[in-house]
Amino acid sequence: MLKKILREVVVIIAGKQAEGIVDLLDSNQHVNEFLIAKKLNITINQTRNILYKISDQGLVSFVRKKDKKKGWYTYFWKIEPIKAMEFYRNELLSKISQMNNQIKNRETRQFYYCPLCHMEINEENALLKDFTCPECGNIFVLLDNAPILNDLRKGLGKLQIELNEVDLEIKSETERLANVKKPKKKEVKKKKHVEHKKTPAKKGKLPKSKPKPHKRTPAKKVKKVKPKKKR
Ligand SMILES: [Zn+2]
Repeated sequence: MLKKILREVVVIIAGKQAEGIVDLLDSNQHVNEFLIAKKLNITINQTRNILYKISDQGLVSFVRKKDKKKGWYTYFWKIEPIKAMEFYRNELLSKISQMNNQIKNRETRQFYYCPLCHMEINEENALLKDFTCPECGNIFVLLDNAPILNDLRKGLGKLQIELNEVDLEIKSETERLANVKKPKKKEVKKKKHVEHKKTPAKKGKLPKSKPKPHKRTPAKKVKKVKPKKKR
């Protein structure tokens, strides 16, 4: 689901030819742009053009490293899955809003059509044309909005299901990322702590860490469960 959403987002932003980039980008670590270009079998400039377009929307991030010998920069890219899904979510919301407008339109207004040319026309314009088709001279017929409304409502239902799926995906990805970050922080703390022991001069550079929680948690222990009276 996540990959599918990411692919659709990339296609919306950078076109169909950019779709494959999703499989090469990672959400955990940055990927060398030359590697992406090589695997997509396109030039580095084409690769950058795609990535800049996605970057303009804030859906990829990069770090750059200078080549000391050649003096130029190589960019390393990472996809931002939550932002990409939020982008897709906004696209869905705008489609839903358009669909609602169309439904409202069909519910409240009358449309006519020419049975010969199958041309559709709204009431105002049909009136202007004296209910006569300008192409063939046939009289316009009132259009039954019911089947069109049926299709529109089905489409709206599908979009709403998709919106729910995207919301769930955003939620689970947010939770996943929160869990990924936790153990890493602990590792860093441990490492710094060891360094601190060896070189006490670095004391001032210790990271701001939360104060250790008190071991005593009397509030929880006080909670008593009343024993059931035996009869
Ligand atoms: Zn006609």
